[in-house]
Order: sequence, then structure tokens, then C-alpha cells
Amino acid sequence: MTADLDFAGALVYAIPLRMRFRGITVREGMLIEGPAGWGEFCPFADYDDAESVSWLLAAVEQATRPPPARVRGRIAVNCTVPAVGPERAHALVAASGCTTAKVKVADHPDALSEDLARVEAVRAALGPAGRVRVDANAVWDVATAVRSLRLLDGAAGGLEYAEQPCRTPDELAAVRRAVDVPIAADESIRRADDPLRVAVAGAADIAVVKGTPLGGARRALRVAEASGLPCVVSSALETSVGLAGQLALAAALPELPYACGLGTLSLFTGDLVGDDASLRPVDGAIDVPAAPPAPDPAKLAEFRHPDPERDRWWRDRLARVRALAVPG
Ligand SMILES: [Mg+2]
Repeated sequence: MTADLDFAGALVYAIPLRMRFRGITVREGMLIEGPAGWGEFCPFADYDDAESVSWLLAAVEQATRPPPARVRGRIAVNCTVPAVGPERAHALVAASGCTTAKVKVADHPDALSEDLARVEAVRAALGPAGRVRVDANAVWDVATAVRSLRLLDGAAGGLEYAEQPCRTPDELAAVRRAVDVPIAADESIRRADDPLRVAVAGAADIAVVKGTPLGGARRALRVAEASGLPCVVSSALETSVGLAGQLALAAALPELPYACGLGTLSLFTGDLVGDDASLRPVDGAIDVPAAPPAPDPAKLAEFRHPDPERDRWWRDRLARVRALAVPG
């Protein structure tokens, strides 16, 4: 399956982020070329080799197969508001052109008053017709989630939904019964089989699917179907090369009722494709490319990883993960 991929010629990149996100300030990964174009292999450093196999499958799918059949060509996206102060949050949203904002909350144990101020500022920036969602990244217990979501829902003048307020499906279900805010499962969405449906039944109203960690657009489409829920496609902080695969997934889902979390290039100081091919949102949406964009030589020169030891680390990682993906 992977014999016609140019693993030896894979490129290791490092792109500084504009602000700290998911604990990192520089995004690293690899680009791999195949007969259908380029794929991106970019598991975060804290993923072990076994968890990284699906990230490799996503890169392989994109480099070897055309995107799945699409039913739409333009994807509405949300802007993402990290744990910043209210003035900065207002400015980020106002500059984004998006009508939906995802606000990171529960960044630290005493964050609630800051979260309320941030959510209020985001609502002010969006106006009454905008949509505000929050993401707690699974850190709350049930009681904290219920109390916080009621207050945040009030401060936001109505939340669109709350993403993964707690860790387990049972906790999500308990929160969902106690609050009016719809609940989205993100970290809980991991497997494309019947247990997934059981796991999220009663626990969530919406499923967040990420094509890159789930092993590519086709596998993610099966996960979406297995969830039995309306889906939101969300990025794993890819460059435009990997984002193209996520957009292909969003374009192929039968229903797409919510803005997707694919406007994440705004967090990057640069991209690996030419400016005209960069998959940044315009007026709150991204046009789906027909094929993954090819990297631009000048951008590759600019963002090629400057540290030979990290370059070696990524190549060794790719070799180990390949061995796991294709045993023998
Ligand atoms: Mg999330």
C-alpha cells in the first residue's frame, strides 16, 4: 500500500505559531509525496508510535487516493479564541470574518471569571446572530461542568454547544441531562465501530471528528456514520497540505449543520504552500481544493526544520510508525 510513497524524500518542517496552543509554540511534521499528491504526517510529540499509525494512514490516503466524492465545495469555519483576555478575544473575533467562535475555557483551575469575561467579549464582537461554542478539553468534573456551563450560557447569551466538558461518556451524559446547552464529544470520538455508538448514545448531541488522527477522510466518514450524530470536522493543526484532507472530509459528509474547526492556519506564522493556495478562510469559509495543494519550494526552504537532531527524530519516528502500520 505504501510502496509508491517517497518516504526517503519526506520533508521535515517547523513552523512557529503566533501563540501557544495545545502547549506548543512550534508546529512540526513531515510532508510525504505519493502518486495522488502530498500527505502530511504530523502526530503531536506526545502521541506514541501506536497512536501515530492512524496519522500515517491519513497521510498515505491523501498521497495515494483521490478525495472521497464531495457534496459541497465551501466549508464554513469557526474562529478559535484561546485563553486570552477579553480585549484580545474581541479583536480576534472581529478580525476573523467568522460568524461562529470557539472559545477555549477552563485553561486553569480558577479560570471561570476569566472565561465568563472572554465569552461575553466574544458575544459582543459577534453580535446576536453569531454563534458561541466553548471547549473545556475534558478537564471539568460533572458538578463544575454543570455550574460553569450554566454561567457561561448566560454570559454568552446562549451557547451553540459545549465541547467535551468532562472526560468520560458517563460524565458527559450526566452533564447533558443537567444543562440545556448541547454537548459535543471530541476526545471521546476515537473508534469507528458499534461501541462508539453505544459510547456516545445519550452522552452527546454532536460529534467532533478529526480526519487526520482518525486515519484519513474515509475512515473518519465511517466514524461519523457510526456516531449517529451530526458532525463537526476539526483540524489537528495541519498546514494547508493536511488541511486539504480535512476539508475533503467536511466536503464529503452527508450533512454539515455546524461551522467546522478548520480555520486554524490563522494560528501559524506561515504555511508550506504558496499564498494563493493557502487554505485560509475568506469571509468565514474555505473553498475545498480539488486536490491537496503541493508545497512551494520557497516555503519549504523557509520552514525546513533547522535542527538536524529533530529532523532525524522525525525520520526515525516515521520509520517506526511505518513498521507498525505495515507489519513485516
Ligand atoms: Mg476539542
